[in-house]
Formats: sequence, structure tokens, C-alpha cells
Amino acid sequence: MAGWRENVREVEPYVAGEQPKQTDMVKLNTNENPYPPSPKVQEALERTAANILRLYPDPTADELVTAIADRYNVIKSQVFVGVGSDDVIAMAFLTFFNNPEKKPVLFPDISYSFYDVWAECFRIPYKTVPLNENFEICTEDYRQPNGGIIFPNPNAPTGLAIGLDAIKEILDANPDQVVIVDEAYVDFGTDSAISLLDNYENLLVVQTFSKSRSMAGMRIGFAIGNEELISCLMNVRNSFNSYTMNCTAIAMGAAAVRDEEYFRETTQKIIETREWAKKELTALGFTYPDSKANFIFASHKSVAAEEIFRKLRERHIYVRYFNKPRINNYLRITIGTREEMQKLFDALKEIL
Ligand code: PMP
Repeated sequence: MAGWRENVREVEPYVAGEQPKQTDMVKLNTNENPYPPSPKVQEALERTAANILRLYPDPTADELVTAIADRYNVIKSQVFVGVGSDDVIAMAFLTFFNNPEKKPVLFPDISYSFYDVWAECFRIPYKTVPLNENFEICTEDYRQPNGGIIFPNPNAPTGLAIGLDAIKEILDANPDQVVIVDEAYVDFGTDSAISLLDNYENLLVVQTFSKSRSMAGMRIGFAIGNEELISCLMNVRNSFNSYTMNCTAIAMGAAAVRDEEYFRETTQKIIETREWAKKELTALGFTYPDSKANFIFASHKSVAAEEIFRKLRERHIYVRYFNKPRINNYLRITIGTREEMQKLFDALKEIL
């Protein structure tokens, strides 16, 4: 008889970017937003502070769900909120991809490196679909048998986005599977698949407050889909009580999503800085896919990425380096403020 040891697995854990605490650092390694959240978020905290610690949170997170539904023009029963989009996606893996026939969930290789970790944790078979030589997602590769599909749009860490027609092709080819579009970076210049929801019952769109709404520390993510998909997610989530959102996240998240003007202003600044940064990188001898995200995935023509990463780090400038096949000569550089990016370029001029 098999003992418990046979049931224990070694899962290779997800490795997050460093969170160093120097005061003089330039932190461009984990795609955080360089601007503070909307001032309305602070006001919401002050307004609700007295009750936040004393009372239990509303298990339906109604204030936040209502604000998201209003903003995206859907009904409340189409919205699912969670503790960061990581939590939302984990719930979606458990709910939709754990199929009895054990058909593999498909996602791109190269992509967000949490997908294979969740699949392994939950014992869900998966198959990675290589990007083409230009790091693009090819829709025809998603016509093979599968138990569900997930991809980020824009993709990470490449920053490349696909259009709504390409997403429709994937949805049309897989009417019986749930297709998740992970839109963590969509607000920096890509069309959201939320506009396709009326025509596709198998589509789930996931977004986060960690990037364009500058609230990574608060852990807020959400999914929008048809009511049936959302109610399935709720049933799974409600079985894990620890995943309830806390009072602060509900109040601050709702305030953030209602402040459309601040959101537009800050995302626009990041987009402008990104486009300027692309030109600076070209002048320094870097090449990169045409990012639509709040980061650029760049490779230098003559100096190894690992060396640049190390030398920047010595100067307390943090970018992300992935020691993985095919991308080990690339750096992923988060778009900071213009001043932060200038410090990066000044350092690069010394190093190169
Ligand atoms: N999806 C992608 C593609 C990401 O890069 C990230 C952030 N690392 C997430 C989801 C998770 O974001 P969060 O849990 O902060 O919402």
C-alpha cells in the first residue's frame, strides 16, 4: 500500500521579484505603479477607520462589487472579487480547469510564471504553447484539444498584446472550454476583452488593482464573466473562508475605481514615459518587443543582461532578470517616474 510519502509532492514555488528596503533605491523590478493611489483612497480609509478593525467585513464585498460593476457597465452578478488577481486566478484554476478527463490547460511559454505553479499545486495537467520567434501568441496554436486556456493580454514579461479579433478566434475555436484573459496590464494601452462578454459565455476576464490603480499592497483583483461562471467561482471561494476580502480593501478599492479622472491621468503619464523610455533604450543599443504594458522587455546588442542587472543592482537600481532558457538575455524594466527612468539611463550610460 502506498504510504503518505507517495502523495507528497515537491512543487517548485513561484519566485517573486525582490522587495528590497533601501531608501535610495530605484525599484523597477515588480511592475508596481510609481504614483500613489488616488487621494480618494486615503479619504476612504479615514472615513471607515473607526469600524474597520472592529467589524467583520461584508462577505459579498458589495461596495467594491457595485463600484466595479458600474465602472465596467456590467451587472453585479457578473463580478467576482478576490485577494489580488493571483487569488482570483487560483480560484478559476480550481473551478474551471480541474476537469475529470484531465485534459491539459493551455498557456503560453513564455508567460506569467504563476500558471504552471498553480497547475502543479492543484494537480491540473497543463501544456505550454511556445510563442513564435517574435515572442507573439499565435491563435492557431490554441486549436488543439484542451481543458481550458489562460493567457495574459498584454503578455508578461514580453509586454506584447493581441487584438480583440485574435481573442475572438481563440474563443470561437474553444466554445466548450473556459478561456481566461488575464488583463493585469490592459490599462496601459490595450483593448479589454470585457466588450466581448455579451457574445462569449466561455470568457472570463481577470484584472487587478495592483498596477494601474497603484494598490499592490492592498491585494485586490477581480473577474468579470457571465453570471453562471461567476456563481461557480463564488461556490468554490465560499468554501475557503480565508479568502474573504478585508474591510479596508473593500472601502479603498471602491474609492479607487470611482476616481476615473485620477486613473486616466496616471496611466497616461506611465504610457508617455514608456514611449519616451523606448526611444532612450534604442539609443543605448537595446532592442525590445513593442510593449503595451507598464514595463519593457529589453535585450542589449553586446552586453549580457545578467551583467547589466548586477551592475544596476550595485547602484541600487532594481530591474528583473529571468535566468530561464530563451529569455536569459533580457531585462524586464518597470516604467517608473520620469526621474527614476532618467536615473536608470544615467546608470546604463556608465555601465555600457
Ligand atoms: N497576472 C499577471 C500577468 C501578473 O504579472 C501579475 C502580477 N505579478 C498578476 C496576474 C497578479 O497580480 P496581483 O495578484 O497583484 O493582482
